[in-house]
Amino acid sequence: MTQPSGRATVVLLRGSGDDDFAFLGPTLARNRRVVIVDLSVTSKRSSDEWTRELAEAGDDCCVIAVGAHADEAVRATLDTRGVVSRLVLIEPEFDGTAPETGALPVLVLASGEPGLGDVRGTLRERPARILSTIEDFLDDAKPPSRRSSRPPAAVSRPPVGDVDLQARPLRDHSTSAVEVDTVIVGAGFAGLGAGIRLARRGDKSFVILERAGDVGGTWRDNTYPGVACDIPSHLYSFSFLPKPDWSNFFASGREIHDYLRDAVRSEGLEGHLRLRSEVLEMRWLADELRWRVTTSSGEYLCRTLIVAAGRLSDARMPDVPGLDSFAGPVMHSSTWDDSVELRGRRVGVVGTGASAAQLIPRLADVAASVVVFQRSAPYVVPRPDREYTLDEQRRFADDPSAHEALRDELFWGAETAFAERMRVPGFIDRLRDRALGHLEAQLDDPSLRAAATPDYEIGCKRVIISNDYYPALASPSVTLEPSALRSISDRVATSAGCASFELDVLVFATGFESTRPPFAARTYGADGIRLSDAWADGMRAHASTTVHGFPNMFVLDGPNASLGHNSAVVMIEAQIDYVLAALDHRDAVSVDAIDVSLEAQDAYTHEIDAKAASTVWLTGGCDSWYVDERSRRLTLLWPDFAYAFQRRLSRFDAENYAVIEAPRMAPALQSSIPSP
Ligand code: NAP
Repeated sequence: MTQPSGRATVVLLRGSGDDDFAFLGPTLARNRRVVIVDLSVTSKRSSDEWTRELAEAGDDCCVIAVGAHADEAVRATLDTRGVVSRLVLIEPEFDGTAPETGALPVLVLASGEPGLGDVRGTLRERPARILSTIEDFLDDAKPPSRRSSRPPAAVSRPPVGDVDLQARPLRDHSTSAVEVDTVIVGAGFAGLGAGIRLARRGDKSFVILERAGDVGGTWRDNTYPGVACDIPSHLYSFSFLPKPDWSNFFASGREIHDYLRDAVRSEGLEGHLRLRSEVLEMRWLADELRWRVTTSSGEYLCRTLIVAAGRLSDARMPDVPGLDSFAGPVMHSSTWDDSVELRGRRVGVVGTGASAAQLIPRLADVAASVVVFQRSAPYVVPRPDREYTLDEQRRFADDPSAHEALRDELFWGAETAFAERMRVPGFIDRLRDRALGHLEAQLDDPSLRAAATPDYEIGCKRVIISNDYYPALASPSVTLEPSALRSISDRVATSAGCASFELDVLVFATGFESTRPPFAARTYGADGIRLSDAWADGMRAHASTTVHGFPNMFVLDGPNASLGHNSAVVMIEAQIDYVLAALDHRDAVSVDAIDVSLEAQDAYTHEIDAKAASTVWLTGGCDSWYVDERSRRLTLLWPDFAYAFQRRLSRFDAENYAVIEAPRMAPALQSSIPSP
């Protein structure tokens, strides 16, 4: 994928008031050179001064000014004809008439423009919205669509429970391979999203393989007490399948699971689902130019393989000496067993990530005592949850534009947080202050406060959103042990800090095999290379989706496709668009297979590494599941704004792919074969 053209230097005309460019300056600088001209020092420059000043910026620059400085920007542009190639005026204090700048492209961002509302307010509250518009203008890019590809279907959906997915009979494929165009592996958000989009375009020949007996991925697996999503519900759902009646700002795990089960029914995916079909091997058959997918319930042959196996699917259990000797029940947060009695029991919880922070308050409510083994303290910020009123739900159902406006507001609000992950001063400081203020407000005991204070920069690990985590830590039944679990002997758990606790139940909230996805060890590409070997020093892909040597394979929610600051669903949607465009291209040029070039994959990886280098994920002084432990590369997260990912994947870059075709018979040879 080539870089967008038009990398003009950006000249920001800064005045003396509030710094309008606190966000725009550093964020524009991630892709291009930024020069700041301080108008508060010398205003009203002469023609000569402007010529000198802007000539230093280069002979192709874009001048950006806010408010009253628009006048000066226009004057500088006119004074130095030829140097300035574009002009951006944010809420200029003009009377509505466009400035006289001849043929020069000018972007005027004024209040009332679609999506911008009050521009100065947007610049303060949702500045990424302004940034993306400017970047589209600078790069001559068409903004990628975030719109629904079908009107809301939720109102006509049958209620949950009408069809029991788990009871659906399975076809017996044990005797011969089933041939389909596409195999999708995994029936979570990504796999179902891909299935819905294929079905909506009329594709019928696909199956969705799922090792479990139900759909829903992480929202099926994680049923621990308190499980919920910390991304707003209206954003954590498909744009093409809106649900106007989410009950709360943040949805519970159960409600999200129901949403996905409903999606299967309303989109008629039941016939494509193959439940209890665990993938044992995926192998590219170079002679046949097809994938052979071997599952626990039979074999499939397909041209296209979409791997949507998730990044939080396989539990990670630490190697704790003596764990086998533990006399009571042991559970991982993602394999919760409701039948385990917790009331009145002494429960140990290992871990303090997002899962632990949700389940600890619930355990504290029922258990006799809870010991939390904390290897490192999380940052926690307040959780602004609330119920949606019936009126709001009705309005979102009746007026799709109101619903879309809400999604837009949520999306651009979340995008601002990437400036925190970029460590933009002011932004990261405000986030840190919010978290430490929350800690101070909720924990009185100085020693508990000290133990719960993180020793790394905020955002390095996922920031927890909770109002009841700290109160739970402070409750008399909970002990915060500020060190890892080191060993177990019968009922006694001993920490790295040498404290011992007698326990009845052990809960591991210790995360997932995110950096080494187990499906990679079962996937063999061209020349028999195993994906886990290709990824021996960490996952890598082109466009976060295709892997060199694995033709016609697309990985959703895989390398550098997760987010730490916005909804994973928008990333999945961008990837699905990219995959469908790739399939369309492959059909249009009538080739059997496409394989991304190693050069393109290397270039993309290089770009990811360069973008990631200064983010808090690599510089914040912590270990997290976002970073590969072998190479220390950021392999899980996309190190940029989500809109930048949408934009990046909005075009299928065929030039970066080699085509593979089955050997065709030469015409002379063909004509020598007698007709039957
Ligand atoms: P996680 O973020 O990987 O956290 C695992 C926790 O276990 C960490 O606190 C880790 O400590 C600790 N740990 C691992 N081995 C340990 C040991 N031997 N002794 C003591 N502690 C140990 O896993 P998670 O909480 O399941 O969350 C994973 C991801 O799922 C989240 O980042 C998020 O993306 C998603 N999630 C989201 C929500 C939500 O929306 N609210 C809820 C749950 C999960 P260190 O920090 O020291 O490594």
